[in-house]
Amino acid sequence: MTGRHSLEFFAATSGPARPGTAQPLMAEPTGLEPTSVVVIGGGIAGLVTAWEVARAGRAVTLFEATSSVGGCIARHRVADLDLDAGAESFAIATRAVLDLIDDLGLSSRVVSPNPAGAWVRHARGSAPLPTDSLLGIPAHPLAGDVRRVLGPIGATRAALDLLLPRRVGGTAATLGGMVTRRMGRTVVKRLVEPVAGGVYSTDPDELELDSAQPALRAAVSRTGSLATAVRRLRATSARPGSAVAGLTGGLYTLVEALRADLERLGGLVLTDTAVRAAAQAADGWRVLVGDDQVGADDVVLAVPGADISRILALVDVDVPPTAAVTNTVRLVTLVVEHPALDAHPRGTGILVSRHASGVAAKALTHATAKWAWLAQAAGPGRHVLRLSYGRGDDDLPSDLVGTALRDASVLLGVDLDRSHLIDSDVIGWTSALPRPQPGHRAAMATLKGQIAQQPGLHLTGSMVDGTGLAAVITGARTAATRLLSVTTQADGPRPADR
Ligand SMILES: Cc1cc2nc3c(=O)[nH]c(=O)nc-3n(C[C@H](O)[C@H](O)[C@H](O)COP(=O)(O)OP(=O)(O)OC[C@H]3O[C@@H](n4cnc5c(N)ncnc54)[C@H](O)[C@@H]3O)c2cc1C
Repeated sequence: MTGRHSLEFFAATSGPARPGTAQPLMAEPTGLEPTSVVVIGGGIAGLVTAWEVARAGRAVTLFEATSSVGGCIARHRVADLDLDAGAESFAIATRAVLDLIDDLGLSSRVVSPNPAGAWVRHARGSAPLPTDSLLGIPAHPLAGDVRRVLGPIGATRAALDLLLPRRVGGTAATLGGMVTRRMGRTVVKRLVEPVAGGVYSTDPDELELDSAQPALRAAVSRTGSLATAVRRLRATSARPGSAVAGLTGGLYTLVEALRADLERLGGLVLTDTAVRAAAQAADGWRVLVGDDQVGADDVVLAVPGADISRILALVDVDVPPTAAVTNTVRLVTLVVEHPALDAHPRGTGILVSRHASGVAAKALTHATAKWAWLAQAAGPGRHVLRLSYGRGDDDLPSDLVGTALRDASVLLGVDLDRSHLIDSDVIGWTSALPRPQPGHRAAMATLKGQIAQQPGLHLTGSMVDGTGLAAVITGARTAATRLLSVTTQADGPRPADR
């Protein structure tokens, strides 16, 4: 759809305004009722915002382009097991996700992963990942598990961080820049790059520090060293001892519970319904869905960056081109049977440095070693392995299942071939992960400022709030609070509130 076509469409269909809930503009019935709030995008950001708005008594309609809600949190069935097809755990450095889980009555299902932890594979070999670390940055540079990965020279250089003036690294734009200056290159190559690459699919030398870890720069300046800053940030974890948690039954059950509660509260969820554009009208907003349109007082955008610029083509905001710069990830799930895997040879999995040779995967999660509930569901001798591919700049192999079996053999030290394979699945996550390069945070702040100038328009989701459930849920709840406070202050209760 071109912008010119859209303008004509909206001009031809605009009509008289009525106070209260916005009205649809087309003369013919559209099948879409006007609503108080339209949420575009049914990932966790859109679902949480819609749910908060519905809890406050507002009429809300959520449009999701695909056949199911959840976005990057999804379910797939492999070897008769219901498994997470995308996100499978959440950070517990803050209570953001835990509070949502509590509010949905699911807290009894929160589980910690196997404390055995994960490994890292770098150019010189494999070793357990240091337990006390943040994005791979060690809290104790001279600890035994750190020395095992970095070697004595690398660990000594990392410990220099404790002696350097606090200003060193203070102006670094990227995560890699900060760690290089304070702890040295070996920490970046052997720890930060595999871990950050796993989470962001981006090289730490291109990953904006303030997007990846918004609190880190200030913590370094406060405490005087990177290692101490990591210790402080980890000490405030909502569940000390582990960096992440999961849900028995899979993380996808969270979005299923959210959707069910949203609908119980009267929210309307329309899947297989892509929004084409949104535009302001005299009495609120018009949202173009297929050949229909619906009126709303407020519109919440909770879609990836590339979709934002398309949907807002008619609105006076400049979506920075970098918003559309995203990474594609391929996730290969293998369900295999091999007795040597019962010993969990690499703990809960292994993160792979781009400098390690002979392996294309960037990470392998031994899911049945990580989650006890899943091992029980899979049954004795069966193992679920998840391998992810795509660092943002690499060509992906064509036979991903064959490649994954070979990579798993190398990474786990266990010979795996098709005779061990019970079932497999490959999921492509296209444009799902933003690539926060230097300048991203400032560009997003500018965009948010422009959006705030458009009454009734709201923006949330990983592009503006950061990658990962904790950041996205915090952002969505903030967006909902702002939406509710602005409209309540301006107009008093809406028709839908009464
Ligand atoms: C493979 C993978 C594994 C991950 N693992 C973890 C993890 O273990 N822990 C963690 O914390 N984070 C993880 N993440 C990151 C986390 O899942 C995301 O940061 C978060 O889920 C993003 O949520 P969102 O709602 O902002 O976006 P999305 O989940 O991308 O949702 C956006 C939704 O908008 C819809 N949409 C797009 N255009 C339109 C349109 N025009 N009309 C209507 N709907 C539209 C899309 O279909 C999609 O459903 C992972 C991400 C991926 C890809």
